[in-house]
Amino acid sequence: GSSAATTTQEVFTVNSPNVTYTDAEIRSKYTYRTTKVEAGADGKFVATPTETLYDFKVERKVPKTGMMLVGWGGNNGTTVTAGIIANRRNMVWETKEGPREANYYGSVVMGSTMKLGTDAKTSREINIPFSQVLPMVHPNDLVIGGWDISKMNMADAMDRAQVLEPTLKAQVKKEMASMVPLPSIYYPDFIAANQEDRADNVIEGSKASMAHVEHLRKDIRDFKANNGLDKVIVMWTANTERYASVLEGVNDTADNILKSIEQGHEEVSPSSVFAVACILEGAPFINGSPQNTFVPGVIELAEKHNAFIGGDDFKSGQTKMKSALVDFLINAGIKLTSIASYNHLGNNDGKNLSSQKQFRSKEISKSNVVDDMVEANHVLYKKDEHPDHCVVIKYMPAVADNKRALDEYYAEIFMGGHQTISLFNICEDSLLASPLIIDLVVLAEMMTRIQWKDGSAEGADYKSFHSVLSVLSYMLKAPLTPPGTPVVNSLAKQRAALTNIFRACVGLEPESDMTLEHKLF
Ligand code: NAD
Repeated sequence: GSSAATTTQEVFTVNSPNVTYTDAEIRSKYTYRTTKVEAGADGKFVATPTETLYDFKVERKVPKTGMMLVGWGGNNGTTVTAGIIANRRNMVWETKEGPREANYYGSVVMGSTMKLGTDAKTSREINIPFSQVLPMVHPNDLVIGGWDISKMNMADAMDRAQVLEPTLKAQVKKEMASMVPLPSIYYPDFIAANQEDRADNVIEGSKASMAHVEHLRKDIRDFKANNGLDKVIVMWTANTERYASVLEGVNDTADNILKSIEQGHEEVSPSSVFAVACILEGAPFINGSPQNTFVPGVIELAEKHNAFIGGDDFKSGQTKMKSALVDFLINAGIKLTSIASYNHLGNNDGKNLSSQKQFRSKEISKSNVVDDMVEANHVLYKKDEHPDHCVVIKYMPAVADNKRALDEYYAEIFMGGHQTISLFNICEDSLLASPLIIDLVVLAEMMTRIQWKDGSAEGADYKSFHSVLSVLSYMLKAPLTPPGTPVVNSLAKQRAALTNIFRACVGLEPESDMTLEHKLF
């Protein structure tokens, strides 16, 4: 079949003495303006505007990129694969509501725009697709592969997922039937016992080993070589695992996690073994599930190797609403006092989460998402005061991938009054998660081509962003941040950080929304 043209045409250049373009690079000199606060002797704060100079350098050549999914044969894996094939081939299929065509709705990169600036003549806003701010990989060009403990081919696995329309499935079936996941590592204790009958495609050995690490590294190298790829990004979209206990001497340092893998320690999870393999192989690794894959030793190992990691847990439905709504309520000065979140779902994820230890991983990741917003408002909340927050998830096979999320937000308003907001959110979980997988891969790849140096020091060397890619937070429920740095959950802040960092790379100021040009004349 014919592929859609995906070469990126640059839609703008920046006209500034601080920005230079070469064939290979975009370089910008950027002044980062922020505010330092100190407590004065009189108990008042002293706020001092500060400026830091950075040089950014963006590699313009878009590499041929592979996406390897762990859990490729699952609902997310099959859905994102079929979706990319359908987009690549510009597919149109019949539904009872008429023909539908392939799109990338739900992807920030492919489906949203950002303000470039104001039209010099008409003073109207000029917006550009997010995908155009920097030279990003087009998802149609991703070469897709991965692992699964189930050997079912991708066409049959897509049927098993019960997500896509039969008329669409018919068109991608042939191509997907030829795709079969690589065997994976399976340590039964980490996922629900009810998953055991799927595990017919496993690499020998049921606990961590260096042989497993080497096997996975070779899989990545082979995939890269066989497809002529410049880069591979690996994503965990396999089952939610139980938490691994963080133990001194076992997984607390880089050396200890490597030693524990060698010794086959039972607290080393498959997802941590994948992470270690990717770190050693220099392939960015992103965790789309809630478990603590990134134990301290894995993070330290990533830092040591300057390898990129990101996580945890896709932020698709209920939590995405929560991180937008709570931000709104608390910033509106309304005192949120409780959140009750109920879910039921009938896909394999729901089946796995019906087991207590795996549910516990999800409960933790869903529970901490309002903390920073509450803590920031000491007008409404006293120190250590929190809204009540409870999360329930039940397995309901009949609703399949059509997850239901019911949320009640209860708040105190003016003069002791109350406001209750009830939300009922229904949609195919995998259709929400698939575009997030695409965004995470495209953005993580982009981050591998951005370098920075101290703009005030003569002779400073360029280096990469920190190993922990907190810039991916928008897509993640429990954002992993560099050790010791704060977590930001607010959806609006997460998006602003992402867009403004990318703007800085081409020497554009953050979008402040002040629009003084419309107010001062
Ligand atoms: P799924 O159960 O359909 O797919 C998971 C796949 O992983 C299965 O095919 C399974 O065989 C495979 N697997 C399990 N252990 C493996 C291992 N060690 N190596 C390789 N493959 C393995 O689940 P899903 O609906 O695709 O969701 C995937 C993950 O994403 C889950 O952990 C889920 O909690 C998380 N998640 C999903 C969403 C969403 O909206 N869909 C949102 C947030 C998080």
